[in-house]
Amino acid sequence: MTWIEGAAGSGYDVDHLPLGVVELPDMADRTGTQVATRIGAHVLTLTSLAAAVRTPEDVQPALAARDLGPLLAAGPSTWSRLRAWLTDLLTDATHRDDVEPHLHAHADVRPILPFAVADFVDFYASEHHARRAGEIMRPGGEALLPNWRHLPVGYHGRAGTVVVSGTPVRRPYGQRRTSEPDRAGRLATYAPSRRLDFEAELGFVVGPPTAPGTRIRPDDLSEHVFGVVAVNDWSARDIQGWEYAPLGPLLGKAFATSAAAWVTPLAALEDARVELPPQDPPPLPHLAVNGPAGYAIDVEVRLNGHVVSRPPYASTYWGPGQMLAHLTSGGLPLRTGDLFAGGTISGPGEDERGCLLELTHGGARPIRVGSDERTFLEDGDEVSIVMTASGALPGSRLRLGEVAGRVLPAD
Ligand code: MN
Repeated sequence: MTWIEGAAGSGYDVDHLPLGVVELPDMADRTGTQVATRIGAHVLTLTSLAAAVRTPEDVQPALAARDLGPLLAAGPSTWSRLRAWLTDLLTDATHRDDVEPHLHAHADVRPILPFAVADFVDFYASEHHARRAGEIMRPGGEALLPNWRHLPVGYHGRAGTVVVSGTPVRRPYGQRRTSEPDRAGRLATYAPSRRLDFEAELGFVVGPPTAPGTRIRPDDLSEHVFGVVAVNDWSARDIQGWEYAPLGPLLGKAFATSAAAWVTPLAALEDARVELPPQDPPPLPHLAVNGPAGYAIDVEVRLNGHVVSRPPYASTYWGPGQMLAHLTSGGLPLRTGDLFAGGTISGPGEDERGCLLELTHGGARPIRVGSDERTFLEDGDEVSIVMTASGALPGSRLRLGEVAGRVLPAD
C-alpha cells in the first residue's frame, strides 16, 4: 500500500510506475526536463528526487539525464533496482517528507517524448487485422500470403516522425491513384489524402544496445525491452494503396506516428501475461516460445470522445518476443530507443477492429460516431487510444499512458 492518497483504483498505483519525461515550466529552481513517474493523480519527478535522497548508485546517473536513454541503456538490473527503490519510497510513510516536495499535479506538467526513437519497426502481427486488410487491399486474392504464419511480417518505418501524444497531426499530401487516366495518360494525382486512418497499436521500447550478430531468443524479451507504449500509426490509405506494391509502405505512414508519453515497464505487466493464440504451423525453432508469451491488454479507441472499437491485444497471433527474435535473427544490432510495434490490434468481433479501414470495410460502410458518421478521418477529428491491463495488486487495473491526437487540415 502506498501512503499517497487516491492511488488505489487510479490506474497509477504503486504496481504500475510508468516512466516519462516532463517539463516543469514554472519551476525556476528545477529548470529543464525531469525523468518522472506517475502515482495516483501526481507526477513524481525522479531527477530532482534522486538528487535529494539516497539513491542506488547505478540508478542515480540514469535519472540525472534529460531523457530515458541512459536508463533504457542501463538494462534490467538497474530497472529492477529503480523499481524497488521507488516502491520503498512510496510505501514506507517515513519517506513522506523526503518525497512530497517532488510531487506535482499531473495537470501542471508537460510530458514530452521520453526517449529518442532510434529505429521504428512496425509489424503486422494480428491475424484478424491481416486477414481483413488483405481482403480489402487485394479483393479476390489470397487474404493471408503464404509467409504470414511463418514469420512476423513487418517493415522499417520512420523514427524521426514519432511524436508524443497530444501533438496535432497534419493531413498529408501524397499521390493516389485516380479512376481514369488524365489527358496526359497519368493514372495518379497529388493532393491531400482523402482516406486518413488511425491504427491502434502496442509499441515495445528497447533497452540496451546489442552487438551485430546478436540473435535474441523470444523468451528473453524482458532482458531487452524495458516497456510498452500505446501507439497510433496514422495511415493515409489512398497514398499507401498506390505506393506499397511491391516494396511496402513508404510515405503513407511516414508523416506521423504518435506514441504515449508514459512507458509502462514490462515488470508491471507480469500479471497480464497470457498464452499466445495457437500457432499453426508451429514456428521454426528460433521463433518458438515456452510459456505465456502474449499480454492481455484491453484497448479502447475513441473518436471525438465516442468509443468506436475495443480490440483485445491478447488475440494478437505473434508475440513481442517473437517479433524481437525475428528482427534480430539476421544479425542486426539493436540500438537503445528502438521502438517496434505489433501493427493494428484487431480481434475477431465487428467492434474489435483497430482501424477505420476495417471498421468501415474499406470505406464502403460508414460507422456511427455519436450523431455523425465516418468512413475516414475528417479535419478536426480527435483520436484517443487508452489501454488497461491487470496489475500485481489485488483487483488492480493499470491504465497505460493515453495516445491522443487531433487532425489538422492539409497546408
Ligand atoms: Mn501500423
